[in-house]
Order: sequence, then structure tokens, then C-alpha cells
Amino acid sequence: MQGTIFNIQRYSIHDGPGIRTAVFFKGCPLNCWWCHNPEGLDVKPQPMIWPQRCMFCGDCVKVCPKQAVTVDEHGPAIDRRRCRACGRCTEVCPTQALEMVGRRITVVELLQEVEKDRVFYDQSGGGVTFSGGEPLAQPEFLQACLRGAKEAGLHTVVDTCGHAPPQHVEAIMADVDLFLYDLKHMDTAEHRRLTGVDNDWILDNLQMLLAHGRPVRARFPLIPGLNDGDNVAATGIFLRDIGVKYVHVLPYHGMAVDKYQRLGRESMTAAAQAPPEQIVDEAVARLEQYGLNVIRGG
Ligand code: SF4
Ligand code: SF4
Repeated sequence: MQGTIFNIQRYSIHDGPGIRTAVFFKGCPLNCWWCHNPEGLDVKPQPMIWPQRCMFCGDCVKVCPKQAVTVDEHGPAIDRRRCRACGRCTEVCPTQALEMVGRRITVVELLQEVEKDRVFYDQSGGGVTFSGGEPLAQPEFLQACLRGAKEAGLHTVVDTCGHAPPQHVEAIMADVDLFLYDLKHMDTAEHRRLTGVDNDWILDNLQMLLAHGRPVRARFPLIPGLNDGDNVAATGIFLRDIGVKYVHVLPYHGMAVDKYQRLGRESMTAAAQAPPEQIVDEAVARLEQYGLNVIRGG
């Protein structure tokens, strides 16, 4: 079985306990205004541009079958309406100014990569984390990866937005040692405005996992003006009432903005600002009021 990923990050310390290998699945059903990984939104591989690496040889222009590439003094540009993501321009580029983001990989190949750092997992209490994009957007592939990881004796984490049919969550939950579960907004209309989807599945699936006794840590991305204020209290009350013990507060940062340009995507993050320390302090204090153990950052 094969799936599509866009990164395998070794020695990760922010994606669950210990030292981990984080595998980033490509494709996500949400389109959050503040997404830090826009290269994970589309499930299909796509060319990404690094203009400062260009040496202006023009080879990419010559090989493109769709006449989608142009090169000027600023480097290469791609007309995304014409591009068919064949990858030929990225294959001939001598300096990797054009790179494909995303690749197909089998479960066996993926687990072989993960196995390379087993010594670090054993020493640190780490393991493998499946992230994205949204790993549950490739449900059969995720299920097979988790099964293989558990059969190999690895600790498993799934980092999810929770927006998936309940049967897909049910199918994997026994093979997941810890869920990192994003909660972005408690109001469903606001959730739809900011992410493109309602929060019904997200809230229902979280409660289902807790009802089955599965370990869950909530993650709350904090974006001033978009999901702070009353929403922090609503999130705290919900988590307390359903029995979540730990929540990570993840302050927004704008480091992904240039990735949107490299992918030819429009960024919605102009509406988002990194929160001042005081706003983070207030959110942490508010969540602690509801008896939650609050951790700053991943
Ligand atoms: S990926 Fe293929 S179609 Fe798209 S710009 Fe490159 S060569 Fe052209
Ligand atoms: S092939 Fe690479 S280095 Fe040459 S013009 Fe195209 S992007 Fe620039």
C-alpha cells in the first residue's frame, strides 16, 4: 500500500514524548487561515519555487510540456492554471530552485525510514508521529502504517485536526498511544469561516476517543483576533467537562508566509498576528482556571 507524504522529520522533540520521527502526510480537508504547512494542504505533489537558488539557465522553460514556466531576473515563475505537476522542470533544474513537494511511499519504505532512529526512541521514550496535512485524510494508509509500527513495537502518536468520519477514527484508535488533537474554535459558524468546515466531527470524535479511554492531549493554536477572547473560556469549559487533562497552547507565528508565495497560493495570514506575551499569559491563565494542565508550545 502507498500514500503521499511531504516530509519525514527526524529528531523531532515537539510532536509527542521523547525523540521522534514525524511523518507529514499530504492533504488536509481544512484550509485554516493560519496554516503553518500550506505544502500539506493539497494531496497531490506540486512544484515549489526557491527563486534565490536560480542560475537562469532556462532548462525548466524548455522541458515544460504545458508552457507553464517562465524565468526572468527574479527567477522562475509557474502559471499554476497550466501546470499539471508532471515534475519535469524539477528534474532538470541543476540548483533545486524548483522542487517537487510530496512523494508516494509504501508502508514498508516508510517504516524502514522510521526504524533508522530506533536507538533514540528507546533511550528517550520516543517513537513515530503521524502528522500533516491531516493523516486521517489517507485513512487506509494511516491504518496500515500504525499497524506496522505497533507490530514493530514502536510508540505511536497521531497529530490530527479530528475532522474525519467517526469510523475512520475508530479504525485506528487501538493502534495509537497518544492523540495530539487540535481544537481551533468552539463556535461552529466561526470554525467554518476560519477553516472551511464545521466542527461537529471534531468535537464528536474527541468525545468518542475519551469515552474509549484513549490518551489525548488537546492543542489550541492561539491567533489573536480570530480565536482568543471568549473562545478561550469556551474551549477550557469543553475540555474540562469531557475530561481532557492536558492542553498545549500554540501561539501563532508568521514563519510560513513565504511558503505560500513559493506554492503560488493566496495567504489568509495577513489577518493573523503573532500574539503578544500578555495575550498568551491570559489564555494560559484562563485555561488553568478550568483545572487543565497547560503547556506552552508543542
Ligand atoms: S511540473 Fe510539469 S507542467 Fe508543471 S511547470 Fe513543471 S514541467 Fe511544467
Ligand atoms: S532550471 Fe532551475 S536554475 Fe535553471 S532557470 Fe529553471 S529554475 Fe533557474
